[in-house]
Order: sequence, then structure tokens, then C-alpha cells
Amino acid sequence: MLMQDKIQEARDAIASAEKLLVFTGAGISKESGVPTFREAGGLWEKFKAEDFATLEAFKRRPKEVWEWYRFRRNLARKAEPNPAHYAVAKLETLHDDFMVATQNIDNLHQRAGAKKVLELHGNIMRSYCLKCGHKVDESEHKLEGEVPTCPKGDCGGVMRPDVVWFGEFLDPKVLEQSFKFAAECDCCIVIGTSGVVYPAAQIPVLARRNDACIIEINPEPSALTRIADYFLKGKAGEIMPMLVEENPG
Ligand SMILES: [Zn+2]
Repeated sequence: MLMQDKIQEARDAIASAEKLLVFTGAGISKESGVPTFREAGGLWEKFKAEDFATLEAFKRRPKEVWEWYRFRRNLARKAEPNPAHYAVAKLETLHDDFMVATQNIDNLHQRAGAKKVLELHGNIMRSYCLKCGHKVDESEHKLEGEVPTCPKGDCGGVMRPDVVWFGEFLDPKVLEQSFKFAAECDCCIVIGTSGVVYPAAQIPVLARRNDACIIEINPEPSALTRIADYFLKGKAGEIMPMLVEENPG
């Protein structure tokens, strides 16, 4: 099938969807210049992700881990949402029953205006207290100090980034909501993910099981391509806006 025909059909499937899910991974953020975990590099090149992204590493060297996350926060803050993020946010305004489930922690969907976002792996702009669980948005609290402490009452517990580290489970509520939505949706757009990181990768599989139309946008085929009705090869920032355009009358 010609690319143009595939885009037309995928656009029709999206426009007529009653329950629409968008599932995203690092690829959509990469187009905004957010490096993937292993590419963040620079000063940190000699370290492995595992040196920072575990609870053990945090307990051993909280100062260094916080330094690493401040560095990554800055990268995320400097990045701007791209046309794919804006197209996703636009879809939310066109569909009452809509959800984004993202594996990204960079807050770019929200900055593009999306409100219904399930953050499977957390949000780098948020922190929580190891002692009492109190959550803090960066905007509400500057998290001063090398290792920030809990601002709630006289708790004083150590704050950690609200991201899922190696060896940790995803928030069961977020995961359950994502699985439930996937199992009931009739159209699922997969953007910028290789589909190999579980349990998140189960999401499009559950949608497929419900006979949802699966539309995949990736630069290369992935582990999910075999279940996709439409594989649209290319940049999400170029293809997504074409899928959201008004249909010519
Ligand atoms: Zn606390």
C-alpha cells in the first residue's frame, strides 16, 4: 500500500475511534532533542545508567544521583515539545474517551497541552519523600540543597526523583489504568517505542487482543510491527500532524 493511502486509512481509523489510546516511548522525545538514558553522556559518559538509576545507588551516593537527575532535568527543560506532541494533545481535544500512556519521564506531553497522561515510568520533574511518600512538583518547591529533604511538616525525610528505577515496580495504579484502557480501546497509536520494555510493552498487545486498530509510527520496524495494522515508517513529528489534520471535505 502506498504511504499516502496508509496515512489516509490510519487517519480515518483515528477519526472514527470511540476510545483512543496513544502509547509513546523515547523516540518521540528524541525528536525534541531529549537524549535517551544511555545517550545523555557528556560528563557522565564513564558511568552506566545502573550507577544512578537504582535505589541502592541512591542510598549509597544520594548527592551524585541528585546531580545526575538535575543534569537530566535541565536537558528535559531545555527541550521543546515537537509537532508530534502537539498533534497528540490536539487528539485529546477531539476525542472524549482518550488517554496517553507514556514511558517518557520528560513532561513533554503535558507541556504540549495533554492532560490525560498516564506516566508509566514517573516524571523527572517530580520528587517524593522516601519516609512519608509526600510528592512535590519542581514548580512548587525548589528542592534546595544537595540532597533535598521533605518540606511537609517536620518530616525531613530524604526526597528522591519520582521515576521508576531498575529493579523497581511500576506504580500498580498507573499500570492497571493503562492496561484497562488498552483492553477496551478500539484504536491505539504507538509512537517511538521499540516495544521490548515490559510490562509497558504489554499495552499495545492488550489493545490488539481487543481488535483495536494498531497504528505504529517508528523510524524502523519494531517488536510491535507484526501486530500493527498500519506501520508508518518515519519521524513522528512529520507523520502525526498528517494523521490529525481535518479530513478534506
Ligand atoms: Zn516526608
